[in-house]
Amino acid sequence: MAIRKVREVGDDVLTKECREVKKMTPRISQLIDDMFDTMYEYNGVGLAAPQVGVLRRIIVVDVGEDPRALINPRIVSHEGTQTGEEGCLSFPGKYGIVTRPMKVTVEGLDRNMNPVSWEAEGLLARCFCHEVDHLDGHMYTEFVEGEIHDVAMEEAMEEEDE
Ligand SMILES: [Zn+2]
Repeated sequence: MAIRKVREVGDDVLTKECREVKKMTPRISQLIDDMFDTMYEYNGVGLAAPQVGVLRRIIVVDVGEDPRALINPRIVSHEGTQTGEEGCLSFPGKYGIVTRPMKVTVEGLDRNMNPVSWEAEGLLARCFCHEVDHLDGHMYTEFVEGEIHDVAMEEAMEEEDE
């Protein structure tokens, strides 16, 4: 178990295309464990390998239901739209409004390298889209509608209530 350094916007590694994983190795397995540790340490709901400086097609997500790692993920279908706030551990303390599909089907390999096909909706769908984008060197900031802001809407609303 180890927490890895999260690369932040401006780091070239975040703009590169990641390579597919061909086989599971102790090193990749360790990377996945460390990605979970790092995501939880920073209270994220998802993390992509390039965010810890590794150019491989691996993501981890946990929106509070069940933790999942996905290797060589692809969004194979999508349905509907949702517009909401998004943030990224590589751009700490910033938020922006992004429109994403409401539902997606994502395919790839689980950490035993078995093919999986998962349906996701709501926050989990948003999360898969965000993380898969990282593997092609894209950040949510490219898709933000309006301004990128410093305070999450949830926090801003809490402040208004006070
Ligand atoms: Zn991100």
